[in-house]
Amino acid sequence: MSVQERTLREGQESRDAPAFHTMAASDVLEHLGTTASGLDDAAVAERLRQYGPNALPQAQRRGLIARFFAQLNNLLIFVLIGAAAITVGLGHLIDAAVIMVVVVINGVVGVVQEGRAENALDAIRDMLMPRANVMRNAHRTSIDSADVVPGDIVLLEPGDRVPADLRLLKARGLRVDEALLTGESLAVDKTSEPVEDEASLGDRRSMAFSGTLVAAGQGIGVVVATGSKTELGRISTMLSGIGTLTTPLLRQMDRFAKYLTVVILVVSAAVFLFGGLVRDYGLSEMFMAAIGIAVAAIPEGLPAVLTITLAIGVQRMASRHAIVRHLPAIETLGAVSVICSDKTGTLTRNEMTVRHVQVGGDLVEVEGVGYAPRGGFSRDGVDLDIGETAVLARLIETGLLCNDAALNQLGDDWIVEGDPMEGALVALALKAGVERSTLNKRLPRTDEIPFDADHRFMATLHHSHQGDAFICVKGAPERVIAMCASEAGEEGDVDLAADVWLARVDDLASRGERVLALARKPVVAHRQDLTFDDMQDGFVLLGLVSLIDPPREEAIAAVRDCQAAGIRVKMITGDHIATARAIAAQLNLTHPDAAMTGAELDLLDDETLRAKVREADVFARTSPEHKLRLVDALQAEGDVIVMTGDGVNDAPALKRADVGVAMGRKGTEAAKEASRMVLTDDNFSSIATAVREGRTVYDNLRKTIAWTLPTNGGQALAIIAAILLGVTLPITPVQILWVNMVTAVALGLTLAFEPSEPGVMKRAPRRPDEPLLTGFLAWRVGFVSVLFTISAFGVFAWSGMRYDSLEISRTFVVNMLVVLQIFYLFSVRYQHMTSLTWRGALGTPAVLIGVGLVTVVQFLFTYAPFMHTLFDSRSLSFTDGLVIMGVGVAFFLVLELEKLLRRLIWGSEW
Ligand code: ATP
Repeated sequence: MSVQERTLREGQESRDAPAFHTMAASDVLEHLGTTASGLDDAAVAERLRQYGPNALPQAQRRGLIARFFAQLNNLLIFVLIGAAAITVGLGHLIDAAVIMVVVVINGVVGVVQEGRAENALDAIRDMLMPRANVMRNAHRTSIDSADVVPGDIVLLEPGDRVPADLRLLKARGLRVDEALLTGESLAVDKTSEPVEDEASLGDRRSMAFSGTLVAAGQGIGVVVATGSKTELGRISTMLSGIGTLTTPLLRQMDRFAKYLTVVILVVSAAVFLFGGLVRDYGLSEMFMAAIGIAVAAIPEGLPAVLTITLAIGVQRMASRHAIVRHLPAIETLGAVSVICSDKTGTLTRNEMTVRHVQVGGDLVEVEGVGYAPRGGFSRDGVDLDIGETAVLARLIETGLLCNDAALNQLGDDWIVEGDPMEGALVALALKAGVERSTLNKRLPRTDEIPFDADHRFMATLHHSHQGDAFICVKGAPERVIAMCASEAGEEGDVDLAADVWLARVDDLASRGERVLALARKPVVAHRQDLTFDDMQDGFVLLGLVSLIDPPREEAIAAVRDCQAAGIRVKMITGDHIATARAIAAQLNLTHPDAAMTGAELDLLDDETLRAKVREADVFARTSPEHKLRLVDALQAEGDVIVMTGDGVNDAPALKRADVGVAMGRKGTEAAKEASRMVLTDDNFSSIATAVREGRTVYDNLRKTIAWTLPTNGGQALAIIAAILLGVTLPITPVQILWVNMVTAVALGLTLAFEPSEPGVMKRAPRRPDEPLLTGFLAWRVGFVSVLFTISAFGVFAWSGMRYDSLEISRTFVVNMLVVLQIFYLFSVRYQHMTSLTWRGALGTPAVLIGVGLVTVVQFLFTYAPFMHTLFDSRSLSFTDGLVIMGVGVAFFLVLELEKLLRRLIWGSEW
């Protein structure tokens, strides 16, 4: 270990790390054994081994036993345990044992289900791992934040989350939001100058702390502490991740289940008293019956099953590139009526290629595909030699100087590091034989104004070795043309014909191409920095570059799907209105021509905007503030909105939208954190997929409820009816515990795995205020409960008429109830169409496993001698089995008829 490494280590290990904020930047680098060009691979590996990953310790998970007991902390379980104790007192040891088995199985199922749900979330948490831009081996690269080590050189840009504690080496307009650490909500100005020793955390302006957010500007810093050694680690705050697994609807169901439990306990007590006092059942028999009713009727497993349904939905979405950060978004997705999407990279491929260059009156065509630097230039169909036109050469050179992207060759592929549009300009330069490293040596860059969606240009300051200095600018044509007084010609600069140029821009943009203007301006040789004042005027326009960025094929299909699903798609872009219109037409948006610009939006008051916002599908040259206004206007119209975004300034609109969606690849950390969903592939079609999944999850929640409540009701009603009528119980209390346990364990969860129904994207969006517990559900609980009771009593009576023993009759009823639940499961799987299809009969693997399991245990129940002892069951004949199946089929057909009538009368089943 070198001396430096030792000091570094000691510094990290002791509570009082060296006061990096007071040291000069160069001393800090020396102290940390690093340089401005970063560590090399060997040093990184060594430090990673020494200091461990840059991560905060995970909160400890509860142990298995603790989780098991946590499951038992529930009213029904207490009642059951109490009941088991009383049953022992009454001398029914077997019954007591069965009740305790039910308790234990409930706990185990709960633990398994909770584990499943948590695993789903953990996997997703890992997918959202933040990235950091660092210098390594003298190259800029992007790495997982967890791999950052002390001594790394980190580059900061707006929207980045600072990956570790940094001593700043460079800060350019750098402002950092440190609310997480200091509670101060205003962003703090940062500097690379040392500050005094006593400065409090909030005043250490030469430092950027792990977990804080870059609000504006740029910076470079060296890592002084990672992981739990950072200031954030010391206060051991956890960064906001994915929330707990619950949503408003689930909470609503949870509350409902609790009320229901109390109501059912009261009903059971009443039945107990009625049966014991009014009818002359024995008290101990009635006690067991009351317990049976309570267990049968209370949907104890429902909240857990709903949670899993949600977790499975989250997992399914993640595998389709949509990561849900905020779980209620799943429910909201099912109700989305408008999707507002960015254009570049989301609806289009973001694979840019320069197609045309306009210099003076000449439109030069550029050949070639993708980023491969192959292809020549032609004018009016005649090959063009770059040497022939000085202005073209200067324009291409400017495009490379005012540029931060790099092209790397990987086999036959050329890959862009950085902004794809800038990558296309690098490819253009290579086609003209201009290479970055020689150009940079000849004309080094001294300062820059980075691109920002608000000012829509990028500028750089360069010096030649001959003592000249000049500014290069590239950006949105209207912006750049407004800075120019003259234009470059082969025979020298001439006055600018702005109108002619704007017409040329329109012409290129209306082909769907993305147009950039490039210009230069000479400045005095001693200028070392660049300010916005320099960007007002005095530039010489060199010309236009026009790039193609075709729509994604999948996006065209996804737009069509969304439109069929009653969802309107709107494009909100920073690009030129003519480009936006042309791309909107290629995407088949409903009103591609009804386009508005940001400037036009500014002229409208909120009222008029609300009226207009419905008609226009394309909003061009917008800035992030416009997105916020559009969200407000659409929401005021009652729409439920998805809004996409990537920049730090998009955060307010992302937060305000019903479902803010950030781009996983080109999005900033700030945008991701403001969003409810992140797309790992930045692709519009993933939004459409997420909406489909959102609708499916919601359907599955409803199906699970629509299956659970009536089946529970049916089981309970059969006993209650018998007691009210004062007849022999058709099923013993222990048998009802058995039915409830078997079906809840094996069938209850199957609906969580249901795939989307065929017409899921052909329906209009769900009304956002629609309750989960509808009148339909109340009807179904009643209707199915009555059908259950009639069937149970029917087979009981029929068996009685055959002079079967009471045990055989009851075994009939147990099997009947289980079979009815299986048939009802098949019926409930389709809400919007008949279940009488081949597809419906085949089921899903989950359904088949569940049904298979129930069949096996029911055979055991009916034929195994030990079951006869435990549950008083008896063997049935083959024809008995056929009778049970026959009643099941009849029950299924009655339900299908009910569905058909509902569809005919109301147009939909629910
Ligand atoms: P979207 O909002 O759909 O992603 P966009 O990418 O076109 O669209 P912005 O990134 O805000 O939106 O860009 C707006 C305009 O700024 C572009 O049309 C282009 O003219 C200009 N521009 C974009 N990137 C750069 C850049 N790196 N340098 C200079 N100008 C740029």
